[in-house]
Amino acid sequence: MNNDTSAPRQAEWREELRKAHTAKQRAEIPRVKMHELDAAYRVTCNEEVNCGISAEQAVIESTRCMDCPDPQCVQGCPVNINIPGFIKNIERGDFAAAATVLRETSALPAVCGRVCPQEKQCESRCIYNKMKKPAVAIGYLERFAADEDMRTRKADGAVRNSDGAVKVAVAGSGPAGLSFAGEMARLGFDVTVYEALHEIGGVLKYGIPQFRLPNSIVDAEIAALESLGVKFVKDCIIGKTLSFDDLQSMGFKGLFVASGAGLPRFMGIPGENLIGVMSSNEYLTRVNLMGAGTPGHDTPVLPGASVAIIGGGNTAMDSVRTARRMGASRVMLVYRRSEEEMPARAEEIKHAKEEGVEFLTLHNPVEYLADETGRVRAMRVQRMELGEPDESGRRSPVAIPGAIDEIPVDMVIVSVGVSPNPLIPSAIEGLDVSRRGTIVVDESTMQSSIPTLYAGGDIVRGGATVILAMGDGRRAAQSMAKQLQG
Ligand code: FAD
Ligand code: SF4
Repeated sequence: MNNDTSAPRQAEWREELRKAHTAKQRAEIPRVKMHELDAAYRVTCNEEVNCGISAEQAVIESTRCMDCPDPQCVQGCPVNINIPGFIKNIERGDFAAAATVLRETSALPAVCGRVCPQEKQCESRCIYNKMKKPAVAIGYLERFAADEDMRTRKADGAVRNSDGAVKVAVAGSGPAGLSFAGEMARLGFDVTVYEALHEIGGVLKYGIPQFRLPNSIVDAEIAALESLGVKFVKDCIIGKTLSFDDLQSMGFKGLFVASGAGLPRFMGIPGENLIGVMSSNEYLTRVNLMGAGTPGHDTPVLPGASVAIIGGGNTAMDSVRTARRMGASRVMLVYRRSEEEMPARAEEIKHAKEEGVEFLTLHNPVEYLADETGRVRAMRVQRMELGEPDESGRRSPVAIPGAIDEIPVDMVIVSVGVSPNPLIPSAIEGLDVSRRGTIVVDESTMQSSIPTLYAGGDIVRGGATVILAMGDGRRAAQSMAKQLQG
């Protein structure tokens, strides 16, 4: 293996690879299939469902990539990862170089390889779609390169000493905060991340279940940041335990707010305050963060026998699949539009169906009914049909008059969206906040109305995605560094 990564050498070996196979030969290779745990087995445990691909499969899949001169896949990626660049390194067997290319733009490639909606982003723009063939499996290859890097990376235990460097603080340890912290540490700053909860990782830990994103993957990324000198302080709420003024008195020259959108929304229908009705945030936090349902943990959660989850996004899909693993015998996903309009990833929908989840599409709950103890015993659902497209471009659901069913349930999990965490926006005077409760920033720099306060991720966008949060963190770091160094 020639590890010369200079630009002329890179161009040379890419030319060599181009000559190794014709475009026709590349296009004839079938797309790789990733092994998945059997559905009957996986609902009995929390093991990761997608098993990854082997090195041999990765090299074959990367051979499919045409190394397009104007790669549209890159345009489809929210952070413009050099996709053919990392894939061609896999094709020539240099997995470490592939991971290096990924890390140029993505702070958490092992996470993004697992949870990014590639089918709607990079893969939807791959040239193979025009040839009516399945896109190059960019997400699988990203996950492969990042996992290989993690497996082979040699941690020497050394921690970079940032004493004496300019101090900056971060509020929140989700993907936006982690990405900001990594970039600032690499740029030579002394970074401290404050997290309100007792675990680092934000939604990556308390929201997305381990069967989709194992904690070990997130922990390895956190350990890598620690070795760069990033400090983490748990159980500390910025705006309450420490104010913005306190941080300034402690010598922090800048604050990046990455406090996310963890405030659940409800529908405002009768019965939402009954025992047994809760938000998906509460449900997933109990199970994923507090260990509810696992031996040795005190946090209670109902297993439920007949459970309804309301919504059609990733959070709803994570909740239905968690409810199956918690032992519910009937799990229903109740969604007011049709499956075509569901925002959840196609893979999640497929997995949920394989795991025995019932899909009640074109149904909308209108009321929850209680038993004599105040516990939910049934839901009344209105049947819907699709009307004209609304402002989101999706066909809007219209109630069919008189078509209301009553379905017995003993637990309801509401998953109809989230709002920004209100604490920091309301605690800092002079901070410009939108009517939706998001922090207003300059989109190119992520700087807020307070010059030393930057913000990014869901606290700026409302509920969005991991890759967008990460991209914000990186952009904010670059502009804050410029400001503080300038
Ligand atoms: P978060 O990840 O929410 O992190 C914010 C952190 O800030 C939290 O840890 C919180 O405790 C902390 N915090 C809040 N207030 C304070 C304070 N005052 N002081 C200190 N700390 C504070 N996106 C995808 O791309 N793919 C998916 O498959 C996907 N699935 C999802 C599944 C679920 C169940 C959920 C809830 C979301 C999912 N998302 C997915 C969305 C994605 O996880 C979020 O867009 C992303 O995590 C936002 O990152 P963030 O860093 O802005 O905020
Ligand atoms: Fe490779 Fe598809 Fe990107 Fe072209 S569009 S460079 S084939 S991944």
